[in-house]
Amino acid sequence: MKIANKTVTATRLVQDALAKADFFKSYNIFTSIYADEALEKAAKIDEKIKNGEPVGKLAGVPFVAKDNYLVKGTKTTASSHILEPFVAPVTSTVVKQLEDEGAILIGKVNLDSFAHGSSTENSYFGPTLNAYDNTRVAGGSSGGSAVAVALDIVEFATGSDTGGSIRQPASFNGVYGLKPTYGATSRYGVVSMASSLDTDGFFTKTPEDMDLLMSICAKRDEKDLTTLPDFYEETPTKEVKKIGIIKDFDNESVDSEIRACLKEKCEELKNKGYEIVELDMPTLKHALAVYYIICPAEIASNLSRYDGIRYGLRSDKAVSLDEIYGGTRNEGFMKENKRRIMIGNFVLSSGFYDAYFLKAAKARTLIINEYAKAFEKCDFILTPVAPNPAFKLGEKVNDPIAMYLEDVMSVPINLAGIPGLAVPAGKTESGLPIGLQLLGPRRSDKQLIEFSKELA
Ligand code: GLN
Repeated sequence: MKIANKTVTATRLVQDALAKADFFKSYNIFTSIYADEALEKAAKIDEKIKNGEPVGKLAGVPFVAKDNYLVKGTKTTASSHILEPFVAPVTSTVVKQLEDEGAILIGKVNLDSFAHGSSTENSYFGPTLNAYDNTRVAGGSSGGSAVAVALDIVEFATGSDTGGSIRQPASFNGVYGLKPTYGATSRYGVVSMASSLDTDGFFTKTPEDMDLLMSICAKRDEKDLTTLPDFYEETPTKEVKKIGIIKDFDNESVDSEIRACLKEKCEELKNKGYEIVELDMPTLKHALAVYYIICPAEIASNLSRYDGIRYGLRSDKAVSLDEIYGGTRNEGFMKENKRRIMIGNFVLSSGFYDAYFLKAAKARTLIINEYAKAFEKCDFILTPVAPNPAFKLGEKVNDPIAMYLEDVMSVPINLAGIPGLAVPAGKTESGLPIGLQLLGPRRSDKQLIEFSKELA
């Protein structure tokens, strides 16, 4: 991923990326493109290389950021109407870390509005199309990021994962997607979804690139006090012997080709000398319900700041203060945003807090404990990312429960705060990518990335 050997210039790389972005326009990947700025930055890097000056580890490498990452002076829409006019006053830490190493941001990419969704169909700007079949969804919410990498427009992309939004689109488009340990990377300057679940990670084409990005970005950040003390670079190498598979996920509701792919990978691992351990994790079946209580509760609270006064849109029909608040929120949020605000406020309301939110918070602790116990029996866990490969556009978007069921295997990981790496593992008969995810204990991100090479 480097241009240091001087066989190609940064300018050429950026020009190629921009040309590809234009070529794949119909996939609806970009929310903005920074052609002039990117070319200017590339020229500066080429100049430095020519003069023999030192350049960063990512010098000249084009990338895209999910459009919930703030970049000072440019629009950050979160693919919503309410933030459509919003110009970011700061740059997110992750984008800054990447740019400090010479990576060149060529544009921002599409997501489900405020990252609520599993298909990118909830975007105010329309869905992004799957890289392998343009009648199918990109996955979500980081659909634009996954497709930009899968179509080889850029080398890597940033994403955010609150309940699967990196891993699921990665698996729908045949690329690597890492949801890091909670707190491994900074969330400063990224639009919040659900603060106890949000993590920022990456899409890449190789485990080596993922490792490089994490070595740059998995750092303590004083601007985000939930970041962990630095651990990534010092992670000891791990001798991996046992891989766990979750019995509870081997059932009819999971696509047969995905189950077959998982079995095949287990056989391969056995042949390489690893022991496959079957895990009983009965609490996991409650994870989806727990997630869809905790997540909307935090969403309702985080989205309350968009009131028509401080950020973005203000309804021009409003004449009173109440109308500014209500009218702006009504015009600016999408249906799915509103659904979550309503569910969130309901489960937090005084009459229902004990019955829903508190119970969910307790169940979350059981889930955390269940993973901790599982990792006493195995080193890593291998599971599907989603119960199915990429589905057809329009298939689930009007059925919120069907869409939420997409997340059944991805959300437990966010509830537990552990890392999950989606790895391209095969293809269906019709040629759609199948992804599997490797899970490890907190802070095992580097070891997971290393081990994923065994699945390649
Ligand atoms: N699909 C999940 C949801 O809609 C996860 C979203 C995410 O990780 N941002 O909540």
